[in-house]
This record gives sequence, structure tokens and C-alpha cells, in this order.
Amino acid sequence: MFVGHFAASVAAKVAQPRLPFWACVGAAQLLDIGWGSLVIAGIEKLRLNPALPGSPLDLYFMPYTHSLPMALLWSLLAGLLAVRLWGRIGWWIGAVVFSHWLADLLVHRPDLPLGLFNPKVGLGLWNLPVLEMIVEMGLLGLAMCLWIARRKQARLGARPATGWYVAMLALAVVNAIPGDPPSPADMGMLALFGYGVAIAVALLVDRADRRA
Ligand SMILES: [Zn+2]
Repeated sequence: MFVGHFAASVAAKVAQPRLPFWACVGAAQLLDIGWGSLVIAGIEKLRLNPALPGSPLDLYFMPYTHSLPMALLWSLLAGLLAVRLWGRIGWWIGAVVFSHWLADLLVHRPDLPLGLFNPKVGLGLWNLPVLEMIVEMGLLGLAMCLWIARRKQARLGARPATGWYVAMLALAVVNAIPGDPPSPADMGMLALFGYGVAIAVALLVDRADRRA
């Protein structure tokens, strides 16, 4: 799952419009931002196996970002920081951080440790790539419909939100283009680049909303 994680960002923004959208977007991928960074540093590890159905990722070692206890810890820390910044609605940011682990649980093959290292779980929707893409796009599309309806009620234009959505669809298409598997470090860089684009475009949405 890639852009599907942002369904939780949009849902949080619908529920709490005062939250900055860039923070909702960054929160949904905080665990993967950590993962990309630790993969580049050689601390968390993956193999790319093109023989696997759907995603070629064999994520055999990622205890610090994707184990259940560490996902809870990162969610708590992000929630506490967001509460300091934006008051009690900041807990939504913590919830969005944790939504990443739940969505990963749905799609990953068993690579998510319930303890720090073991046992590993994952329901494996990646093995059914077409269904996985329908679920991912369906969740994000549904959240977008709710957000645009909410924006119309608040007399905010649909255009910034639609622009962000189109940018995410473009990222999803680029992500789906088959090519030679990159090295793990390049994979980490590509992930960080994609999340950076998503956050940067979300900042533009925030700026447009402040002006409206
Ligand atoms: Zn993840």
C-alpha cells in the first residue's frame, strides 16, 4: 500500500479541519519515512524479489518501524508532539500514524512483528494485486468524496484537494510502472522522494486554504 495510506490522512482532515493537511499526510507515512531512512542507513533490511506476486518487497527485517510495539510508540510520540502544537485534536495525528500499521497488516505478507522481532503477521492482500489496488484506490477515493463534500459545506474550493488527489494518482501510476528492481538503498530513497512530494503538495493545499 502506498497512496491508500492517505485515506486516513484525508479522514482525519474531514473530522478535524483545523489540523494542517501536511501533518495528516506526513503522519500516514511516518512509519515508512522512518523505514526508508533506516533502509538507506542499512539498519532495516529488505530484498526485492520480482518472483513475488504484486509488490516485489520482501521486508524481512524492520523491527524499529513496523513492529507492533514500535508502531504504537511512534504513534504515541507523534500524538504527544501534535497535541503540543495543535491541542487535543493532535491525538488524531497519533491515530493516523497508527493507521499505517493497520493498513500494512491488511496488505503485507507476514513481515510485521507482533513483538519487537517475532511472531510476524500480515494478511497478504499484496498477493492479489488487482484486488489490492481496488481496495487502495477505493479507500482513498471514498475519503476524497467526503473531503470535497465537507469543503463545499465550509465554502472552500474543491480545487486544492482535487489537485492533491491527482498528484497522488500520478505517484501511484509511476509507482506501478514495472522496471528493473532498484537496490534496497535506492528503494528507500524512492520512498522518501514519493512521501516528500505528497507532503509538499499537501503544504500547497494548506496555503491555498489559508488564503481562502
Ligand atoms: Zn509501512
